[in-house]
Amino acid sequence: MIERRKTRRINIGKVPIGDGAPISVQSMTKTDTRDVGATIAQIRRLAEAGCDIIRCAVPDDKAAGALRYICAESPLPVIADIHFSYKLALLSLESGVQGLRLNPGNLDKPEEIRSVALAALEKRVPIRIGVNAGSLSKGWRDKVHAGECTTPEAMVESAMGHIRLLEEHGFDLIKLALKASDILTTVEAYRLMSGRCDYPFHVGITEAGTSRSGIIKSSIGIGTLLLEGLGDTIRVSLTTDPSEEVYTGIRILQVLGLREAGPELISCPTCGRVEIDLMSLAERVERYLSTEKTPIKVAVMGCVVNGPGEAREADVGIAGGKNQGVVFRKGQIVRRVAEKDLFNALVQEIERIKMERGYLTRL
Ligand code: SF4
Repeated sequence: MIERRKTRRINIGKVPIGDGAPISVQSMTKTDTRDVGATIAQIRRLAEAGCDIIRCAVPDDKAAGALRYICAESPLPVIADIHFSYKLALLSLESGVQGLRLNPGNLDKPEEIRSVALAALEKRVPIRIGVNAGSLSKGWRDKVHAGECTTPEAMVESAMGHIRLLEEHGFDLIKLALKASDILTTVEAYRLMSGRCDYPFHVGITEAGTSRSGIIKSSIGIGTLLLEGLGDTIRVSLTTDPSEEVYTGIRILQVLGLREAGPELISCPTCGRVEIDLMSLAERVERYLSTEKTPIKVAVMGCVVNGPGEAREADVGIAGGKNQGVVFRKGQIVRRVAEKDLFNALVQEIERIKMERGYLTRL
Protein backbone atom coordinates (compact mmCIF):
# COMPACT_ATOMS: atom_id res chain seq x y z
CA MET A 1 0.00 0.00 0.00
CA ILE A 2 1.44 3.36 -1.03
CA GLU A 3 1.33 6.01 1.67
CA ARG A 4 0.83 9.34 -0.03
CA ARG A 5 2.44 12.57 1.16
CA LYS A 6 0.02 14.82 3.01
CA THR A 7 -0.65 18.00 1.09
CA ARG A 8 -3.07 20.87 0.84
CA ARG A 9 -5.95 20.63 -1.61
CA ILE A 10 -6.41 22.81 -4.68
CA ASN A 11 -9.00 22.49 -7.44
CA ILE A 12 -8.46 22.90 -11.16
CA GLY A 13 -12.06 23.47 -12.17
CA LYS A 14 -13.89 20.43 -10.84
CA VAL A 15 -10.75 18.30 -10.53
CA PRO A 16 -9.38 18.18 -6.98
CA ILE A 17 -5.61 17.87 -6.52
CA GLY A 18 -3.82 16.88 -3.32
CA ASP A 19 -5.00 15.97 0.17
CA GLY A 20 -5.79 12.39 -0.86
CA ALA A 21 -7.72 13.24 -4.07
CA PRO A 22 -7.35 10.66 -6.85
CA ILE A 23 -4.16 11.30 -8.83
CA SER A 24 -5.20 13.08 -12.02
CA VAL A 25 -3.67 12.71 -15.49
CA GLN A 26 -2.81 15.80 -17.48
CA SER A 27 -1.74 16.43 -21.03
CA MET A 28 -1.00 19.41 -23.23
CA THR A 29 -2.53 20.24 -26.59
CA LYS A 30 -0.13 20.15 -29.50
CA THR A 31 -2.29 22.25 -31.79
CA ASP A 32 -1.93 26.01 -32.34
CA THR A 33 -4.07 27.42 -29.52
CA ARG A 34 -5.25 30.19 -31.88
CA ASP A 35 -6.91 27.47 -33.96
CA VAL A 36 -9.93 26.99 -31.71
CA GLY A 37 -11.54 24.22 -33.79
CA ALA A 38 -8.42 22.05 -33.96
CA THR A 39 -7.66 22.61 -30.27
CA ILE A 40 -11.18 21.72 -29.14
CA ALA A 41 -11.15 18.61 -31.34
CA GLN A 42 -7.89 17.48 -29.74
CA ILE A 43 -9.16 18.19 -26.21
CA ARG A 44 -12.28 16.10 -26.92
CA ARG A 45 -10.14 13.21 -28.11
CA LEU A 46 -7.99 13.43 -24.99
CA ALA A 47 -11.05 13.56 -22.74
CA GLU A 48 -12.30 10.42 -24.48
CA ALA A 49 -8.91 8.79 -23.79
CA GLY A 50 -9.31 9.52 -20.05
CA CYS A 51 -7.42 12.81 -19.63
CA ASP A 52 -8.50 14.83 -16.55
CA ILE A 53 -6.92 18.25 -17.15
CA ILE A 54 -5.59 19.95 -20.28
CA ARG A 55 -2.96 22.65 -20.71
CA CYS A 56 -2.68 24.98 -23.70
CA ALA A 57 0.32 27.08 -24.72
CA VAL A 58 -0.35 30.83 -24.72
CA PRO A 59 2.32 32.46 -26.90
CA ASP A 60 0.44 35.72 -27.64
CA ASP A 61 -2.70 37.82 -27.13
CA LYS A 62 -4.58 35.99 -29.86
CA ALA A 63 -4.00 32.65 -28.14
CA ALA A 64 -5.11 34.12 -24.79
CA GLY A 65 -8.28 35.42 -26.49
CA ALA A 66 -8.93 32.05 -28.17
CA LEU A 67 -8.97 30.47 -24.70
CA ARG A 68 -12.35 32.13 -24.10
CA TYR A 69 -13.94 29.91 -26.77
CA ILE A 70 -11.82 26.90 -25.84
CA CYS A 71 -12.79 27.11 -22.14
CA ALA A 72 -16.46 27.46 -23.08
CA GLU A 73 -16.40 24.29 -25.20
CA SER A 74 -13.81 22.18 -23.39
CA PRO A 75 -15.02 19.08 -21.52
CA LEU A 76 -11.85 19.37 -19.38
CA PRO A 77 -10.57 22.16 -17.14
CA VAL A 78 -8.04 24.27 -19.04
CA ILE A 79 -4.67 25.51 -17.77
CA ALA A 80 -2.93 28.37 -19.57
CA ASP A 81 0.79 27.82 -20.06
CA ILE A 82 2.43 31.23 -19.72
CA HIS A 83 6.04 32.29 -19.91
CA PHE A 84 7.36 35.71 -18.93
CA SER A 85 4.20 37.76 -19.66
CA TYR A 86 1.89 38.90 -16.88
CA LYS A 87 -0.43 40.40 -19.52
CA LEU A 88 -1.01 36.99 -21.08
CA ALA A 89 -1.75 35.60 -17.61
CA LEU A 90 -4.34 38.31 -16.96
CA LEU A 91 -5.91 37.86 -20.42
CA SER A 92 -6.09 34.10 -19.89
CA LEU A 93 -7.80 34.60 -16.53
CA GLU A 94 -10.32 36.86 -18.23
CA SER A 95 -10.87 34.10 -20.81
CA GLY A 96 -11.91 31.77 -18.00
CA VAL A 97 -8.99 29.37 -17.56
CA GLN A 98 -9.11 27.23 -14.42
CA GLY A 99 -5.35 27.09 -13.88
CA LEU A 100 -2.17 28.97 -14.73
CA ARG A 101 1.31 27.64 -15.27
CA LEU A 102 3.61 30.55 -14.58
CA ASN A 103 6.84 31.23 -12.71
CA PRO A 104 6.38 34.54 -10.91
CA GLY A 105 10.14 35.02 -10.58
CA ASN A 106 10.34 35.26 -14.38
CA LEU A 107 8.09 38.33 -14.50
CA ASP A 108 9.82 41.71 -14.76
CA LYS A 109 8.35 43.81 -11.97
CA PRO A 110 6.89 43.24 -8.49
CA GLU A 111 3.64 45.01 -9.59
CA GLU A 112 3.20 42.42 -12.34
CA ILE A 113 3.47 39.55 -9.87
CA ARG A 114 1.05 41.31 -7.56
CA SER A 115 -1.56 41.88 -10.25
CA VAL A 116 -1.44 38.23 -11.42
CA ALA A 117 -1.55 36.90 -7.83
CA LEU A 118 -4.54 39.09 -6.89
CA ALA A 119 -6.47 38.39 -10.11
CA ALA A 120 -5.92 34.61 -9.75
CA LEU A 121 -6.82 34.71 -6.06
CA GLU A 122 -10.05 36.56 -6.78
CA LYS A 123 -11.08 33.87 -9.26
CA ARG A 124 -9.67 31.05 -7.04
CA VAL A 125 -7.48 29.91 -9.94
CA PRO A 126 -4.38 27.93 -8.86
CA ILE A 127 -0.92 28.62 -10.23
CA ARG A 128 1.59 25.90 -10.99
CA ILE A 129 5.17 26.89 -10.38
CA GLY A 130 7.28 24.74 -12.64
CA VAL A 131 11.04 24.73 -12.24
CA ASN A 132 13.02 23.03 -14.97
CA ALA A 133 16.64 21.98 -14.39
CA GLY A 134 17.47 23.18 -17.90
CA SER A 135 16.17 26.70 -17.39
CA LEU A 136 17.41 27.65 -13.93
CA SER A 137 18.23 31.33 -13.54
CA LYS A 138 21.84 32.35 -14.20
CA GLY A 139 22.39 32.89 -10.47
CA TRP A 140 21.44 29.33 -9.62
CA ARG A 141 23.35 27.90 -12.60
CA ASP A 142 26.49 29.70 -11.43
CA LYS A 143 26.09 28.28 -7.92
CA VAL A 144 25.77 24.76 -9.31
CA HIS A 145 28.85 25.26 -11.51
CA ALA A 146 30.81 26.63 -8.56
CA GLY A 147 29.93 23.51 -6.55
CA GLU A 148 28.00 25.54 -3.98
CA CYS A 149 24.92 23.39 -4.38
CA THR A 150 23.61 20.46 -6.44
CA THR A 151 21.12 20.84 -9.28
CA PRO A 152 18.21 19.38 -7.23
CA GLU A 153 19.05 21.80 -4.38
CA ALA A 154 19.12 24.70 -6.84
CA MET A 155 15.75 23.62 -8.26
CA VAL A 156 14.19 23.47 -4.79
CA GLU A 157 15.60 26.84 -3.70
CA SER A 158 14.51 28.39 -6.97
CA ALA A 159 10.98 27.03 -6.46
CA MET A 160 10.96 28.33 -2.87
CA GLY A 161 11.84 31.79 -4.22
CA HIS A 162 8.89 31.66 -6.64
CA ILE A 163 6.58 30.46 -3.83
CA ARG A 164 7.55 33.35 -1.57
CA LEU A 165 6.74 35.84 -4.33
CA LEU A 166 3.16 34.56 -4.42
CA GLU A 167 2.78 34.04 -0.68
CA GLU A 168 3.71 37.69 -0.11
CA HIS A 169 0.34 38.53 -1.67
CA GLY A 170 -1.56 35.95 0.34
CA PHE A 171 -1.68 33.58 -2.64
CA ASP A 172 -1.45 29.92 -1.62
CA LEU A 173 -3.33 28.04 -4.37
CA ILE A 174 -0.03 26.61 -5.50
CA LYS A 175 1.04 23.40 -7.21
CA LEU A 176 4.68 22.57 -7.81
CA ALA A 177 6.66 20.85 -10.51
CA LEU A 178 10.39 20.22 -10.43
CA LYS A 179 11.34 18.63 -13.69
CA ALA A 180 14.55 17.54 -15.33
CA SER A 181 15.07 15.31 -18.32
CA ASP A 182 17.07 12.90 -16.19
CA ILE A 183 15.35 10.75 -13.62
CA LEU A 184 17.82 10.94 -10.73
CA THR A 185 17.82 14.75 -10.67
CA THR A 186 14.03 14.88 -10.85
CA VAL A 187 13.46 12.31 -8.11
CA GLU A 188 15.99 13.94 -5.80
CA ALA A 189 14.46 17.38 -6.33
CA TYR A 190 10.95 16.17 -5.37
CA ARG A 191 12.32 14.28 -2.36
CA LEU A 192 14.03 17.44 -1.10
CA MET A 193 10.96 19.57 -1.81
CA SER A 194 8.66 17.22 0.08
CA GLY A 195 10.34 18.27 3.33
CA ARG A 196 10.00 21.98 2.58
CA CYS A 197 6.30 22.57 1.96
CA ASP A 198 2.90 20.92 1.76
CA TYR A 199 1.81 22.16 -1.65
CA PRO A 200 0.65 19.40 -4.01
CA PHE A 201 3.06 18.07 -6.64
CA HIS A 202 2.63 17.86 -10.38
CA VAL A 203 5.15 15.20 -11.42
CA GLY A 204 6.70 14.24 -14.71
CA ILE A 205 9.96 13.78 -16.53
CA THR A 206 10.36 16.66 -18.95
CA GLU A 207 11.39 16.18 -22.58
CA ALA A 208 11.37 12.44 -21.98
CA GLY A 209 11.63 11.66 -25.70
CA THR A 210 9.71 9.78 -28.34
CA SER A 211 7.23 7.14 -27.28
CA ARG A 212 9.76 4.31 -27.20
CA SER A 213 12.31 5.82 -24.81
CA GLY A 214 9.96 8.39 -23.30
CA ILE A 215 7.55 5.80 -21.96
CA ILE A 216 10.40 3.94 -20.25
CA LYS A 217 11.85 7.13 -18.75
CA SER A 218 8.49 8.45 -17.62
CA SER A 219 7.34 5.14 -16.18
CA ILE A 220 10.49 4.74 -14.11
CA GLY A 221 10.68 8.40 -13.03
CA ILE A 222 7.01 8.99 -12.30
CA GLY A 223 6.63 5.45 -10.97
CA THR A 224 9.51 5.90 -8.50
CA LEU A 225 8.01 9.13 -7.18
CA LEU A 226 4.52 7.69 -6.89
CA LEU A 227 5.84 4.63 -5.05
CA GLU A 228 7.33 7.05 -2.52
CA GLY A 229 3.95 8.75 -2.18
CA LEU A 230 5.08 11.85 -4.08
CA GLY A 231 2.72 13.10 -6.77
CA ASP A 232 -0.84 14.43 -6.89
CA THR A 233 -1.22 14.94 -10.63
CA ILE A 234 0.98 13.58 -13.42
CA ARG A 235 1.91 14.41 -16.96
CA VAL A 236 3.81 12.08 -19.26
CA SER A 237 5.68 14.18 -21.86
CA LEU A 238 6.17 12.41 -25.17
CA THR A 239 7.15 13.56 -28.64
CA THR A 240 4.09 11.96 -30.17
CA ASP A 241 0.30 12.14 -30.21
CA PRO A 242 -0.87 13.40 -26.78
CA SER A 243 -3.37 10.55 -26.41
CA GLU A 244 -0.30 8.33 -25.97
CA GLU A 245 0.70 10.53 -23.01
CA VAL A 246 -2.72 10.04 -21.44
CA TYR A 247 -2.75 6.30 -22.05
CA THR A 248 0.72 5.94 -20.50
CA GLY A 249 -0.20 8.09 -17.50
CA ILE A 250 -3.34 6.08 -16.80
CA ARG A 251 -1.47 2.79 -17.12
CA ILE A 252 1.24 3.98 -14.70
CA LEU A 253 -1.46 4.71 -12.13
CA GLN A 254 -3.25 1.43 -12.78
CA VAL A 255 -0.18 -0.79 -12.44
CA LEU A 256 0.66 0.91 -9.14
CA GLY A 257 -2.87 0.35 -7.88
CA LEU A 258 -3.46 4.10 -7.71
CA ARG A 259 -6.41 4.10 -10.12
CA GLU A 260 -9.16 1.58 -10.48
CA ALA A 261 -7.99 -0.91 -13.05
CA GLY A 262 -9.61 -0.79 -16.48
CA PRO A 263 -9.05 -3.65 -18.87
CA GLU A 264 -5.78 -5.55 -18.68
CA LEU A 265 -4.22 -7.24 -21.67
CA ILE A 266 -2.06 -10.29 -21.18
CA SER A 267 -0.26 -11.51 -24.28
CA CYS A 268 2.35 -14.20 -24.67
CA PRO A 269 5.74 -13.33 -26.17
CA THR A 270 5.17 -16.03 -28.86
CA CYS A 271 7.64 -18.80 -29.62
CA GLY A 272 8.25 -21.54 -32.17
CA ARG A 273 4.79 -23.03 -31.46
CA VAL A 274 2.80 -20.08 -32.78
CA GLU A 275 1.03 -20.62 -36.13
CA ILE A 276 -1.02 -17.40 -36.51
CA ASP A 277 -0.09 -13.70 -36.87
CA LEU A 278 -0.29 -13.13 -33.13
CA MET A 279 1.57 -9.83 -33.00
CA SER A 280 -0.93 -8.06 -35.30
CA LEU A 281 -3.81 -9.64 -33.42
CA ALA A 282 -2.48 -8.52 -30.01
CA GLU A 283 -2.00 -4.96 -31.31
CA ARG A 284 -5.56 -4.92 -32.67
CA VAL A 285 -6.93 -6.11 -29.33
CA GLU A 286 -4.84 -3.52 -27.48
CA ARG A 287 -6.26 -0.74 -29.68
CA TYR A 288 -9.77 -2.04 -29.04
CA LEU A 289 -9.23 -2.10 -25.27
CA SER A 290 -7.61 1.36 -25.17
CA THR A 291 -11.06 3.01 -25.08
CA GLU A 292 -12.61 0.37 -22.82
CA LYS A 293 -13.26 1.28 -19.18
CA THR A 294 -14.52 -2.06 -17.84
CA PRO A 295 -12.14 -3.94 -15.50
CA ILE A 296 -11.67 -7.13 -17.51
CA LYS A 297 -8.59 -9.29 -18.03
CA VAL A 298 -8.09 -10.33 -21.66
CA ALA A 299 -5.47 -12.79 -22.90
CA VAL A 300 -4.06 -13.15 -26.40
CA MET A 301 -2.02 -16.36 -26.52
CA GLY A 302 -0.09 -18.03 -29.28
CA CYS A 303 -1.05 -21.68 -28.98
CA VAL A 304 -3.82 -23.95 -27.80
CA VAL A 305 -1.37 -26.34 -26.14
CA ASN A 306 -0.25 -23.89 -23.46
CA GLY A 307 -2.24 -20.69 -24.01
CA PRO A 308 -5.51 -21.18 -22.12
CA GLY A 309 -3.70 -22.86 -19.22
CA GLU A 310 -1.01 -20.18 -19.02
CA ALA A 311 -3.68 -17.47 -19.00
CA ARG A 312 -6.11 -19.22 -16.65
CA GLU A 313 -6.55 -16.07 -14.57
CA ALA A 314 -7.81 -14.12 -17.61
CA ASP A 315 -11.57 -13.53 -17.84
CA VAL A 316 -11.49 -14.20 -21.54
CA GLY A 317 -8.89 -14.95 -24.15
CA ILE A 318 -7.99 -16.36 -27.51
CA ALA A 319 -5.31 -18.88 -28.39
CA GLY A 320 -4.01 -19.65 -31.87
CA GLY A 321 -3.82 -23.00 -33.67
CA LYS A 322 -3.16 -23.91 -37.29
CA ASN A 323 -5.28 -21.48 -39.37
CA GLN A 324 -7.74 -21.32 -36.52
CA GLY A 325 -7.97 -20.59 -32.81
CA VAL A 326 -10.07 -20.95 -29.71
CA VAL A 327 -11.87 -18.55 -27.43
CA PHE A 328 -11.54 -19.43 -23.75
CA ARG A 329 -12.95 -18.17 -20.47
CA LYS A 330 -11.00 -18.71 -17.24
CA GLY A 331 -8.86 -21.30 -19.01
CA GLN A 332 -11.81 -23.30 -20.41
CA ILE A 333 -12.31 -23.43 -24.20
CA VAL A 334 -15.77 -22.17 -25.20
CA ARG A 335 -15.50 -21.78 -29.02
CA ARG A 336 -13.35 -22.72 -31.99
CA VAL A 337 -13.14 -20.26 -34.92
CA ALA A 338 -11.12 -19.62 -38.10
CA GLU A 339 -8.08 -17.35 -37.67
CA LYS A 340 -9.74 -14.51 -39.63
CA ASP A 341 -12.69 -14.53 -37.18
CA LEU A 342 -10.68 -14.63 -33.96
CA PHE A 343 -10.77 -10.89 -33.26
CA ASN A 344 -14.52 -10.57 -33.76
CA ALA A 345 -15.16 -13.68 -31.68
CA LEU A 346 -13.09 -12.21 -28.83
CA VAL A 347 -14.96 -8.90 -28.99
CA GLN A 348 -18.31 -10.70 -28.88
CA GLU A 349 -17.17 -12.64 -25.82
CA ILE A 350 -15.93 -9.46 -24.09
CA GLU A 351 -19.28 -7.76 -24.70
CA ARG A 352 -21.13 -10.87 -23.45
CA ILE A 353 -19.12 -10.77 -20.19
CA LYS A 354 -19.84 -7.05 -19.80
CA MET A 355 -23.55 -7.72 -20.23
CA GLU A 356 -23.43 -10.52 -17.64
CA ARG A 357 -21.71 -8.15 -15.20
CA GLY A 358 -24.16 -5.33 -15.86
CA TYR A 359 -21.78 -2.97 -17.74
CA LEU A 360 -22.87 -0.98 -20.80
CA THR A 361 -21.86 -2.80 -23.96
CA ARG A 362 -20.75 -1.40 -27.33
CA LEU A 363 -22.81 -3.89 -29.38
FE1 SF4 B 1 4.70 -20.21 -27.00
FE2 SF4 B 1 2.18 -21.02 -26.77
FE3 SF4 B 1 3.45 -20.00 -24.61
FE4 SF4 B 1 2.77 -18.40 -26.63
S1 SF4 B 1 1.38 -19.54 -25.29
S2 SF4 B 1 4.77 -18.47 -25.61
S3 SF4 B 1 3.03 -19.72 -28.38
S4 SF4 B 1 3.95 -21.88 -25.71
